[in-house]
Amino acid sequence: MNTDFRVSMEPMTGPAAGCTAELGRLGDEIAELSAHLDAATARLLDLIRDFDAQGGWGNGFRSCAEWLSWRVGLDRGTARERVRVARALGALPRLAEALARGELSYAKVRALTRVATPDTEERLLAVGRAGTAEHVERIVRGWRRVDKKAEAMESAKRHTGRALHLYQDEDGMVVIRARLEPEVGAVVRQALDAAREALYQRARGSDAGAGMINKNVPAGTSPADVSAEPPTMAQQQADALGLLAESALHHGIESGAPGERYQVVVHVDAPVLADPDAPGQSVLDDGVHVSAETSRRLACDATRVVMRHDPDGQVTEVGARTRTIPPALRRALHYRDGTCRFPGCARRFGQGHHIRHWANGGPTTLSNLALLCRWHHRAVHEAGYRMERQPDGQLRFWRPDGRLLPDVPPPAAVPADPVHTLRARHDAQGLRVDARTAMPGWLGERLDVGYAIDVLHPLAG
Ligand SMILES: [Zn+2]
Ligand SMILES: [Zn+2]
Repeated sequence: MNTDFRVSMEPMTGPAAGCTAELGRLGDEIAELSAHLDAATARLLDLIRDFDAQGGWGNGFRSCAEWLSWRVGLDRGTARERVRVARALGALPRLAEALARGELSYAKVRALTRVATPDTEERLLAVGRAGTAEHVERIVRGWRRVDKKAEAMESAKRHTGRALHLYQDEDGMVVIRARLEPEVGAVVRQALDAAREALYQRARGSDAGAGMINKNVPAGTSPADVSAEPPTMAQQQADALGLLAESALHHGIESGAPGERYQVVVHVDAPVLADPDAPGQSVLDDGVHVSAETSRRLACDATRVVMRHDPDGQVTEVGARTRTIPPALRRALHYRDGTCRFPGCARRFGQGHHIRHWANGGPTTLSNLALLCRWHHRAVHEAGYRMERQPDGQLRFWRPDGRLLPDVPPPAAVPADPVHTLRARHDAQGLRVDARTAMPGWLGERLDVGYAIDVLHPLAG
């Protein structure tokens, strides 16, 4: 077999002739092992795609990339990119195969998956085979410019196509018909979901409240309706839209201030106060009943008013409005913790979490507080994660199944000679990889990106 021609083409500036053959072999070995690593990377991406699709990261992590970053030690950006490429390759079998055979480097595949679709995959694979990694980068950049132009035209078209019609039908009902841009639609959908959830919980709350009429159920929905047949999805959506409109008018039309803190009114019953495991029922200021765990989370870091009840349910004492965590202590907490303390998370903006809840007698002191992002705050309150501060001040976390969630996971076992193992595995699979497997077809001619895009991109010109 021929040696690597780029090495053998440099005898004048390179080392003495005796070493050239040796360096040629070294170059071949680098090329061959790189191709093996790329082939192994294809397998790795398959595993990641599978793990991601099955939600294997859902045990305390916010995303597959976050899990990968924690478990494998990749930096955030690299982890996100791995997951993106893994997902993309699921729909791009030819690029996936080329990587699995070691014919296309991971760098090329990564670049190509930014633009490839099942329709253009074949052409882009040819670009990957023919060009160097740098050529591929340039072609992909040019390709994206064409994509972006097409996208901008598409989104301008969508924007002008937005509409909402509202008219009264013959029977007096109001009919609403709308075409919304995707991101606006997503917000509307989210708001409807939230309103539906609130209505459903209110309905349950008012059922439990023995005929108490809930002022927040929209007009037309009498408590009798709620207790009869459960409303259909369409009916719930209609109720939710009504509630959205009411609350928008009530609270003012304002899109900002998502960080607005909850104010909770905590009703503490006298017998409950004696039982450290029953924090009593807390109800949000606007009357929304939330699950015990949710209310504990909201109460963890909020403005609170404590009302004490005697055994007959009469309010005996109304405390002053206080911040659960006073501002000075909050500053100290942010300074000490910096970011969310959950393993593998480094989100900067967090909420103060009482490790032992104040409703259970936990003190509001630095040692009983830890900063958690919203997502992980929910995890420890509502998803069954447990955290504890050790005597040495370190935090420990347990999964809902009781297993410890270490800050740094133990490294995976690696065979004594990983390179040999990798080659042996590829041999066993019948994969033939050598120094020329990933060699581009390029012969040194100048790359004309504009021309290449014109020829290749379906929307160019
Ligand atoms: Zn908390
Ligand atoms: Zn977090």
